[in-house]
Amino acid sequence: LVSRKRKVEDTVIDINGEKIGDGNPHFVCGPCAVESYEQVAKVAEQIKKHGLNIIRGGAFKPRTSPYDFQGLGFEGLEILKRVGDEYGLAVVSEIVRPQDMEQAAEYLDMIQIGARNMQNFELLKAAGEIDKPIILKRGMSATVSDFINAAEYINSKGNGNIILCERGIRTYETSTRNTLDITAVPILKQETHLPVMVDVTHSTGRRDLLIPAAKAAIAIGADAIMAEVHPDPAVALSDQQQQMDFDQFDTFMKTLK
Ligand code: PEP
Ligand code: MN
Repeated sequence: LVSRKRKVEDTVIDINGEKIGDGNPHFVCGPCAVESYEQVAKVAEQIKKHGLNIIRGGAFKPRTSPYDFQGLGFEGLEILKRVGDEYGLAVVSEIVRPQDMEQAAEYLDMIQIGARNMQNFELLKAAGEIDKPIILKRGMSATVSDFINAAEYINSKGNGNIILCERGIRTYETSTRNTLDITAVPILKQETHLPVMVDVTHSTGRRDLLIPAAKAAIAIGADAIMAEVHPDPAVALSDQQQQMDFDQFDTFMKTLK
């Protein structure tokens, strides 16, 4: 169902006026994790300032260590929704359990499936049964073919509004957190009709590489860029190394525009 052979025209996902897949680059930015109302509201103000219409923020955080901040759960989704309503922004967050999908859809405009859950088939099927666009992130050890099959799971249950997000894969290279597989973008666009996003934050894990990685993504045909922004990354409860502060976010947006 997601194959280009099946449908030649690009799928365009309209979310709060942003038509992802229309040939122009779109941005999904926001903090790694929802930490408080004040924190998310500050980021929302910056996002509005740059003329963007979508904010992200994790409430269910799939952390590598069980002792790291796990997210605020539904309380986090409530904060995100409140900020979204107040600032006129569409909101995106990751959901990790199939049984939360329906309830989460009441708070969110778009639902993210994280890299660690790309082959959680019950979660994919649950995402296929809701009426919200899905950002599906590539598993860190998933081939392009595995990735496309994961999207197929969602589509097979009736939801074809899927954005494929390249977020870096595991290789022997240690200079970046993951290796950004930049050519996955045109391959995914050739093989499927779905919009393709590049997450420059989790792929590089390095603030100094966000701008060059985003430039490369846009040049190679990405439909959207994901990047993390925090009012004070040094005290962030997750991903301190790679979230941008507001000055860096200004430079990021101005450079890419
Ligand atoms: C995220 O986007 O918040 C995230 C955890 O990313 P990934 O699933 O790609 O690691
Ligand atoms: Mn993060």
